[in-house]
Amino acid sequence: MPDSKHIVCPNCNATNRLPADRLAAGPKCGKCGEKIFAGHPVELTDSSFMKHVGRSDIPVVVDFWAPWCGPCKMMAPQFEQAAAELEPTMRLAKLNTENEQATAARFNIRSIPTLVLFRNGREVARQPGAMGAADIVRWVKANS
Ligand code: ZN
Repeated sequence: MPDSKHIVCPNCNATNRLPADRLAAGPKCGKCGEKIFAGHPVELTDSSFMKHVGRSDIPVVVDFWAPWCGPCKMMAPQFEQAAAELEPTMRLAKLNTENEQATAARFNIRSIPTLVLFRNGREVARQPGAMGAADIVRWVKANS
């Protein structure tokens, strides 16, 4: 039996079961047909957060940010670049703490931007403050 992983679709939030050795081959969602890995962070909401963080067999890195936060805006393209580098071994995602306040409160986000790394639905590392793409990639790899 080939090793398989549960990966959540960034478009429709359906959980797909995929052979681990096919993750880098541009798999598409069995439900909506969109690409499972599009090279961009996934925008999460309070309702989709646990679908991704709780059901993904790969680590999920969440950027907690807000539109009024200057350092968050500076980090956004860096995080985007890190997503392109880290997929498909990791899922990168963003959560707007101004719109999705329940999740931000649940994880006690005190400053933004804050990166939180989740594995099997549990927080394993967190890092407040803006980072460049290379530092994001290094931090994720060191903690996953
Ligand atoms: Zn889908």
